[in-house]
Amino acid sequence: MIEIDGSQGEGGGQILRSSLALAAVTKQPIRIVNIRAGRRKPGLMRQHLTSVRAVAAVCNAVIEGDAIGSQSITFEPSESRGGEFDFKVGTAGSAVLVAQTVLPSLMLADHPSCVTFEGGTHNPAAPPLDFFRDSFLPQLAKMGVANDVEIEAYGFYPAGGGKFQLTITPCRTLKGLALIECDEKASPCVTAIVSAIPKSVGHRECDTIRRKTKWDADCFHVHEVSQPCGPGNVVMIQWSTPSVTETFTGFGKVGVKAEHIARGVLRQTRAHIARAVPVGEHLADQLMLPMGLAAMQGRTSEFRSGPLSMHSKTHLDVLKIFLDIKVDIQEDDESGSVTVR
Ligand code: ATP
Repeated sequence: MIEIDGSQGEGGGQILRSSLALAAVTKQPIRIVNIRAGRRKPGLMRQHLTSVRAVAAVCNAVIEGDAIGSQSITFEPSESRGGEFDFKVGTAGSAVLVAQTVLPSLMLADHPSCVTFEGGTHNPAAPPLDFFRDSFLPQLAKMGVANDVEIEAYGFYPAGGGKFQLTITPCRTLKGLALIECDEKASPCVTAIVSAIPKSVGHRECDTIRRKTKWDADCFHVHEVSQPCGPGNVVMIQWSTPSVTETFTGFGKVGVKAEHIARGVLRQTRAHIARAVPVGEHLADQLMLPMGLAAMQGRTSEFRSGPLSMHSKTHLDVLKIFLDIKVDIQEDDESGSVTVR
């Protein structure tokens, strides 16, 4: 049984989720200790527990230690099978992170899958559903995994109540990914979502960005959630080139002006544009797992991003525990390039 130390590097939930995903795909039993030891409230929170049980359902695993607050679990997977599943976080915890945990098994399974996820769709410190759908999944499609996402309800912290369906057509052999050049041709799209708060908040966010950029009016969209489950606001800038769409995010907070949130998202976007690399910080750490799986099938992948985050470095360390892959990293203060073979 492989033993994984959840306190290594970043010490967060990604070590757990990626270890589960990799254990399921490689059919190796694991024991994970010190789960989320680097976080203020260590151990399994609702989102992590849902991820454990979700991936166990997909690969018919035997699990021990699956309880809220648990800091160690064992997980013994069998064959992964595609099909229809329904996974509920039960709180506002990120359902998108649960989706990312089961995705590797489903994309290499025997049959297509249609999965319903319930929980948070737009959470701080997690990929918003728009990022998952427009930034991450299109890269997976390029690797050969056809997919589609339909959102049914938006879920913000603390009310939750979000719901979406993911359909996945698995693929036997993944293609390698190459995201090296930074295309000159790029188009912005700004979306402000408001849930049970005045629509004017979304307009103020868009107006702030419009005044500072002079982007065309048709790049801006304010979406007011019908039948909201609770209050929430997010503003996202998507920067699309022919090869990749990056998504930058800011969440509305009580006591913080909408204009301030909007300026913060624009700063993130401008920093990305100034680096002249195709892949941003979060997409970098999330692409590594599918790239590692492609490498196991003999396909090399590479990308250029900013300097690698602690999440990325930790993720690479976890990948190397499960997969016999070679990773080359070249980094300076401004950029990093990663090749996985
Ligand atoms: P914790 O760290 O409390 O355990 P966690 O389970 O959310 O929480 P992390 O290890 O922090 O786990 O992983 C969070 C994941 O969410 C990372 O893959 C990170 O890249 C991604 N993420 C965070 N913020 C964004 C964002 N704004 N856009 C896209 N992805 C994001």
